[in-house]
Amino acid sequence: MKIQVITLFPEMFEGVLGSSMLWKAQDKKLVEYKLINLRDFGLGPRKIVDDTPYGGGDGMLLKPEPLVAAIEAAKSSVVGNKSSVILMTPRGKKYTQAKAREFAKLENLILICGRYEGYDERITKFVDEQISIGDYVLTGGELPAMILLDSVTRLVPGVLGGDTSAEKESFSDGSSILEHPHYTRPEVFRGMKVPGVLLSGNHAAIETWRKQNSKKS
Ligand code: SAM
Repeated sequence: MKIQVITLFPEMFEGVLGSSMLWKAQDKKLVEYKLINLRDFGLGPRKIVDDTPYGGGDGMLLKPEPLVAAIEAAKSSVVGNKSSVILMTPRGKKYTQAKAREFAKLENLILICGRYEGYDERITKFVDEQISIGDYVLTGGELPAMILLDSVTRLVPGVLGGDTSAEKESFSDGSSILEHPHYTRPEVFRGMKVPGVLLSGNHAAIETWRKQNSKKS
């Protein structure tokens, strides 16, 4: 899978892409990430990417020409040109684990990070889906894009250690069921004991306890 991100702040991704599972996913050649600096597509010698809104109002908007040029460059770098373009926006469809599963099946994702007051609405004609990570407003689409690419990457076969780890997690069966609580050593921590059944070695009883202690979100 290839995930390309169009952003004005590629440096924000360094820590996330360089650590833990996302780093391993690249190392194992299961996922390739490419950061595309929107500034490279800016207009004129000053590489302008934003402008004031028609009709007045606070803040600046991302201009359509640099954004669409960046989308087209990202698309043309994909073998067969089959890619899904996803715009991060509070106006989008609410992101869920089911959506993450859907995206994880795709070969090529192109994520667009908005900034400032947002973007010229005409870019939405060049986008396949608009995704919101929740009902709150962030400064830019970079953190939403990182959330999306993290949640998608861990679902790519071979990225997680155990074959079934992603299948047993919260929301994994398409429902709103949350995974049961977990415990590790020590058996007693500050007077709190690990539930006895987990120490019993009785796998059927453990499974029943886990089912009983999963809950609806
Ligand atoms: N003026 C916009 C509004 O009121 O809806 C907010 C713009 S926000 C400051 C700048 C950019 O951050 C957005 O264009 C979007 O790309 C990203 N963003 C902010 N919150 C987001 C969210 N909840 N989900 C996805 N993207 C978000």
